[in-house]
Formats: sequence, structure tokens, C-alpha cells
Amino acid sequence: MVTPRADAEYARWLRLNATSTLLIYSGLIAVLLPAFHFVLRALPGVPPGSDSLPLRCVSAGLSAAIAIAVVAFPALRRYALTLQFFNVLACVVVIVMLVVNSGNHYAYVASGLLAIVGAQQAFYRTSHLAATFAIGFCAHVGYAAAHGILWDPMNLAALGTVGSGYLVGFIPAALRIKIQTADIRNRLAAQQVKEELLDAQTALMQLARYDALTGLPNRTTVQELLAEEIASAERTEARCAVAFVDLDRFKDVNDTLGHEVGDRVLRELSARVSKVIGAAGVLARWGGDEFVVIVPSALDDEIIELLARSFIHTIAEPFSVDGIELAISASVGIAVYPRDGAEPSVLIRNADTAMYKAKHDMGSGVAFFSDELHAIAANRHYVQNELRRAITDGGLELYYQPIVEARSGHVVAAEALVRWTDHDGRLHLPSDFMAIAEDSRIIVPLGAWVLNAACERAARWRREGRGIGVAVNVSPRQFAHPDFVETLARALRGSGASPEDVEIEITEAAIMSNVDPVLATLQAVHRMGIRVAIDDFGTGYSSFAYLKRFEVDSLKIDRTFVEGIERDDNLAIARSIISVAHALGLPVTAEGVETPLQARILAELGCDRLQGYYFGRPITAGAFDVTLERDAAATVGVPSVVCS
Ligand code: C2E
Ligand code: CA
Ligand code: CA
Repeated sequence: MVTPRADAEYARWLRLNATSTLLIYSGLIAVLLPAFHFVLRALPGVPPGSDSLPLRCVSAGLSAAIAIAVVAFPALRRYALTLQFFNVLACVVVIVMLVVNSGNHYAYVASGLLAIVGAQQAFYRTSHLAATFAIGFCAHVGYAAAHGILWDPMNLAALGTVGSGYLVGFIPAALRIKIQTADIRNRLAAQQVKEELLDAQTALMQLARYDALTGLPNRTTVQELLAEEIASAERTEARCAVAFVDLDRFKDVNDTLGHEVGDRVLRELSARVSKVIGAAGVLARWGGDEFVVIVPSALDDEIIELLARSFIHTIAEPFSVDGIELAISASVGIAVYPRDGAEPSVLIRNADTAMYKAKHDMGSGVAFFSDELHAIAANRHYVQNELRRAITDGGLELYYQPIVEARSGHVVAAEALVRWTDHDGRLHLPSDFMAIAEDSRIIVPLGAWVLNAACERAARWRREGRGIGVAVNVSPRQFAHPDFVETLARALRGSGASPEDVEIEITEAAIMSNVDPVLATLQAVHRMGIRVAIDDFGTGYSSFAYLKRFEVDSLKIDRTFVEGIERDDNLAIARSIISVAHALGLPVTAEGVETPLQARILAELGCDRLQGYYFGRPITAGAFDVTLERDAAATVGVPSVVCS
């Protein structure tokens, strides 16, 4: 790639070269052609009047005029080649006239050759003409020798002119061009290397400091800028604010319309928000669908909030992509120096925490950082770090809760429920850490750990001949992860579990978020022979239509519909869920069965499997084995349907 700067240099060189070659040749033609005329006349035996000085001077004069014009008016250099072309035409005309005028056609043609070749040489500036010229010269000598006119004075004179023209004009000019070309090539190459290095450096700098997609300052840069801003606020005892902007459900845009559309929206959105901010602050891309705005000299909270609202409004204006109108909402969290921190990283983290509050509060979309949030943020931080460690250090354990067949009262499966023991020995339930794991993507390695452990347990129970399946919870983010199928396959292979002993539970949210990839993942899971249950059914979209479409294998009715079922509260809902599921050929498991009455009612409604504290709480695998042994004789009783 020739860079623009090198290009300009090259053009300059071309112009220079054209001019110098022009000068050399016009000089040659102007001097040699008239000289030849006088030589001819001085030679004995040349018929007088057979040559015409005025005619010869036309092309010579023209060459000289062109050369002078080009030197005097540099602007004409651009037309040097065109002018030379006319000079060549003039030479041809002169030669034709000389030939027609004279008795000795041959000599005039030969002498005219010099003029043409000279002009052409200047015109084309290529050394290929050296060969043409040499061949012409040899042909001339050969012709003259063959016709016995080699020593004819006229011919000698012509030869002399051609030969000397060649030597005097062409060789040095060709050499010059060669040297110049080599020189310019080297210089160009050096220049280009320098430029490429420079460009690469600039590009690297750009990459290191600015986001490639939006051109906005990136993470690193915004932290530097914020540090400067804090320093200046400190000097002037002013405040400055950081707003953390996160787009709501932007993942859906990427998933449903593709990343290209997502990228276009992000670009347009950045442009819009930048415009709104103007000189009032700096917009930067923090990553993904997250942006950071630095507001220097932030006066008071109301003004900052107004500004934050203006971002939300601008973002909310619909985007039109390929004829589709897209509405995007955003949540903004704000942290203010010095109140909420004095370090760039702390301020940004606190603004991020406030953003979480803004998102989950379903309110205005704007939230300020507060002390209460500080505790939440600290905890989130702690949980993230500790969880990461727990995955590798054995801090996680699976508890198992029995799932009972309603008809027989036998334990047929167990749901694996993860527990985390932190290093103070405190046992944490999923409600303490699952949302944090999901938000921070720790869910992916954590989920993989769960899959492995659950498959190992299933394999072991199979080896021990217990015939107990294991149900594993898979979170939406884990299920949507491109490696999910591979992770599942690896867990099966690694443990030797048989697929019929493993069932995964996903929520409606996991299915609805991301239709096409979900379908493919579900199909892949099915191909492996693993069943899929919809967890917490009834709390989400409760759409039977997609259950059919996605070919799930069973439903789990959420605990909330089991609660109060004995008081008729949710009886109708539970009944209709069960009957529609059965109509679709889907077996139903009821969760949260706490009393014998609930169990009996559900069994009467035709519920296939039951799970809940009444049958057993989640317990360690060891404890589960003990209960299994005990229950082998007497099954956990589902109060008889018949006896009711
Ligand atoms: P879930 O899938 O709905 O799991 C059932 C939850 O209900 C369990 O809570 C269980 O202890 C509780 N439960 C069972 N029977 C009863 C009952 O009779 N009464 C009451 N009140 N509760 C009952 P747990 O273990 O705290 O798990 C909570 C949630 O955390 C689970 O809800 C599941 O969504 C998630 N979770 C647990 N383990 C995992 C895991 O390994 N991966 C993923 N992705 N999520 C998990
Ligand atoms: Ca579950
Ligand atoms: Ca559930």
C-alpha cells in the first residue's frame, strides 16, 4: 500500500524526471538536427538543396520551446507528456516532408529516426526504447551494408547523427533515469516503512486508547481522564461526577437482529449521546453495552440527574434499522467525587453499583450511589472473588432433593442444588450468590462445575444400581453460552453417566430470550439423549405454544402455585397447567410440596412427580444415600389417592 504521503513524493519525482528528460532531448534535437544539416552540406557529393534547414528547425525549435516553457512555467509540468506527444507528431510531419522533398529517402528517414526516438524517449521515459533504438540502428547499418551504401557519405552522416545522438543523449539519460529510479525507490521504500511504522503506531495508540467500534475513549483512557478530572476538582475544591450508563436488554438486540445491527445501534447511540453531552462532559465506552460519562465541575445532584435523564431520553428515541424501529432503554448510575470516592476505579465501580440499583428498581432509570449501596457493592465484590476461588478450591457442593413419582411414592430422581461454603465456613444458599454469578458470568465455570459433579453422581448411582436420575439447573446465561453443548457432552463423557439419567432444568426466560440459538441448543441436547424440563413454570411467560415448538420433555409447576392449593387458592391454575401439559404429552412435576394434603391434591390432579420439603429437603449426597437406603423398603408416602 502506497501511503498518500509517499504518493505525493512519487508524483513530484515523476514531474522532475519528465522535465529533465525533456530538457536533455530537446537540447539534443535542437543541436544535432541543424548540425547534421551542415555536415550533410559540407560533404562532397551531396546534392545541394536536398535538405531543408527550416524544416529541420521546426521540430528542433518546438522541442526547445517546450523545454523553455516547462522550465519557465512549472504549472505546465503536468502537461509535459502531452506537449512531448505533440513534439513527436511534429517530428513525424517534418520527416514525411523531408522524405517527400528529397531524392535520397533512406538517409532522411534514418536521420529523422533520431528526432522521433529522442522525442519518444522523452515521451515514454522507459528504457525499453533502448532496445528499439539499438535494433533500429543495427537495421540501418545492415540495410546500408546490403545495398552497398554503407560508405555513402549521406548514409555515414545519417549514421553518425543517429549514433552520436544515441550515445550522447540516450545512454546518459537512461542511466540517469535508472539511478533516479533506484534512488527514488529506495527513498520511497524508506519513507513507506517509516510511514507504515508511524501509521501502525498511531493505530496501536488509537486501539489502546479508543474504542474501535465507536471511536470513543475506552476503559483505560476514561480512567486517565477521570484521574485528571479528580486532580483538578481537588485543586479547585469542586465536585465531579461519573455516570455509568447501561443499556437494558441490549443482548436481545444482538441475539435477535445480529451483531452487525447491534454494532450499528451502538455507533449511532454513541454519536447521539456525545452530541447531547457536548462540552458538558466526556463520553467513553466501558465495554459491551456499557458507557461511562465524566461530568467535570458537577454542580449539584439535580443538575447531574437532569443530564443523566437527557442521556436516557436520547437513547430512548427509536432507532430505525433496516426498516425496523428499535426502542432501547438505559439505566444510569451516578457517583460523585469526593462524596462517593476519590479514586477513578472506585468512582466508576460505585457508579456501576448505582446503575444496578437503577436497573432493578424499575423506577426512573437513574440512581445515585449511597452507603447502603456501598455494602451491596462490597458484598458483590467479595462474592465474585470468593466464588471464583470456590470453583477451583472445592468450596462448592451439590445438595440433592428427592423427586418422587406420585403414583408409586418412589424416589425416582434428585434435583441437584448447589451450595457454597465460604472460607469462614458459612454455608450459602443459591439466593446469596446465584444472581451475582449470573451477572458476572461466573455462572459459566460454576455451571460447568455443577454439570460435572451432577453427572458424576448420576454415574455413581447408576453403578450402585439405584436408578435415580439427576436434575440439574442450568441458568439462562449458561444455556445461551456457545460452549454449553460441548460442556454438557464433556461432563457426560468424563463421568461415564448415561444420558437417560440426566435431566436439565431451564427457565422460560432462558428459552424466550434467544429464540434461534436456543432451538439449536435444545436440539443438540436432545440428540445427546438428555431430557429438558421447564423450571418454575407459570412464573414467566407461561406460553404453551413455545413448549410445543421447543419440544421440551416436562414441566415443573412453580412452588407459588402449590402454596395454598389446599385452600383452593391456586387449584384452578395448577389443574389447568397439568391438563394442558398432559394434552401436549408433557409430564408434570410439582415443586414445593410441603404437606401431605398438597401432595394428595396434586396426585389427584394427575401430577406425575412431586418434590418438596414434605418428601425431603435438599441434603448432601452422603445423607441422600442414607435416606435412599432407608426408603428402599418403605417409600416416602404419597398419601393414597384412593383412600381420600
Ligand atoms: P429451583 O430450581 O426452583 O430449586 C428449588 C428450590 O426450592 C431450592 O432452593 C429448594 O431448596 C427449594 N425448595 C424445595 N422444596 C421446597 C419446599 O417444599 N418449600 C420451599 N419453601 N422451598 C423448597 P435452593 O436450593 O435455595 O435453590 C434456589 C434456586 O437456585 C433454585 O431454584 C435454582 O433456580 C437455583 N439453583 C440452585 N442450584 C443451582 C445450580 O446448580 N445451577 C443453577 N443455574 N441454578 C441453581
Ligand atoms: Ca430447579
Ligand atoms: Ca423451580
